[in-house]
Amino acid sequence: MRSISIFGATGSIGESAFDLLMGSGGPKTWRAVAVTGGRNVARLAEMARALHAEIAVIADEALLPDLRAALAGTGIEAAAGTQAIAETADRPADWTLSAIVGAAGLAPGLRVVERGGTLALANKESLVAAGRLLMATARRTGATILPVDSEHSAVFQCLDGDSLEVVERVTLTASGGAFRDWPLERLAQATVAEASSHPNWDMGQRITIDSASMFNKALEVIEAHEFFGLPGDRIEVLVHPESIIHALVSYVDGGTLAHLGPPDMRHAIGHALHWPRREKLPLARLDLAALGSLTFRAPCETRWPALALARQVIAQGGAAGAVLNAAKEQALDDFIAGRIRFTDMAGAVAHALDLAAGRPGFGTSPDSLEAVLEWDAQARRDAAAWQTAAA
Ligand code: NAD
Ligand code: MG
Repeated sequence: MRSISIFGATGSIGESAFDLLMGSGGPKTWRAVAVTGGRNVARLAEMARALHAEIAVIADEALLPDLRAALAGTGIEAAAGTQAIAETADRPADWTLSAIVGAAGLAPGLRVVERGGTLALANKESLVAAGRLLMATARRTGATILPVDSEHSAVFQCLDGDSLEVVERVTLTASGGAFRDWPLERLAQATVAEASSHPNWDMGQRITIDSASMFNKALEVIEAHEFFGLPGDRIEVLVHPESIIHALVSYVDGGTLAHLGPPDMRHAIGHALHWPRREKLPLARLDLAALGSLTFRAPCETRWPALALARQVIAQGGAAGAVLNAAKEQALDDFIAGRIRFTDMAGAVAHALDLAAGRPGFGTSPDSLEAVLEWDAQARRDAAAWQTAAA
């Protein structure tokens, strides 16, 4: 029986994974080691009970008594806090899903890689903030990292083990998010509610707003650079409003392979869950005749300045990814809290990158979790102070 753990079980990706696990026999097929959540005790306890997990961990320490009460009599261990989540990653499991949102996902994911485990990585922020560290650790320990982000899963599936030497370029598609067709001058007035509605994908609020600002695709370009080891100028972004083609791989002989599927994350999660085999998944099948047509356009860098920031970060290397990721998280918090406008987020991130570039050690990739977190904390302060600096 294969053992599994889910970090970020109560989120959008976690729920999709849970659905696949329960749909394929639940505890009869899988031995669940750990499930973790942020604050939703009731749902976490429900999932732990359904999967007969060994341990459930909630991030908010104040919620430990509630979690204990919800698991009373089940024999399932309860724990709480960021440290407990990281330590839980040391418990052996054959397959671990990293689906916490933001830089908080880095510590547990890194620990899975340090013990040589298999990490199904939805948390793209880990690769953006600490790509070199994560990939070098995986090489050292023999850990396997499997992409769960749909575009990267698509590239991985198209590549099918091909060497990068025969790959001319990789194209990541982007739906364009909520404001794809808005007049540019309206963007500054965009509300949090408007930015939180995605035309095709049903995802957590943060990634949905990141899709509207294209910061999600900016993170994904960096993620592709770190994960596949491709230079930035061989990674393209293509706006594809229907979200049916998730990525394309173009080869030196002029041929291009595309990966297609309905916009449902259970495909990429299921692929990583069963890799290197393919299993029947209970998902909608593609009906191209019903769709009729697929459309494409080049991304507009005026509408989406985040894309240029991703290129800048790849060119800078070193700590730039950790800075961009943290500054973006801070800017997003500030937008959600109503402190800055939608269009201010890119300015705050650019400001944090400018300041970081003047600090000693910026050109060197952080080689420990602590080093990543130092750049992360400074970048959050810089991004938060941007308004004052800009005034
Ligand atoms: P979400 O907000 O729906 O869920 C995030 C999960 O992390 C929840 O379980 C939440 O409780 C937990 N969490 C939040 N903050 C935490 C903290 N500080 N410490 C511990 N746990 C915490 O997010 P999501 O949309 O499921 O995205 C999860 C990850 O997957 C993100 O990195 C996202 O970029 C990536 N991803 C998501 C999708 C998608 O379709 N939702 C697609 C591709 C990649
Ligand atoms: Mg994606």
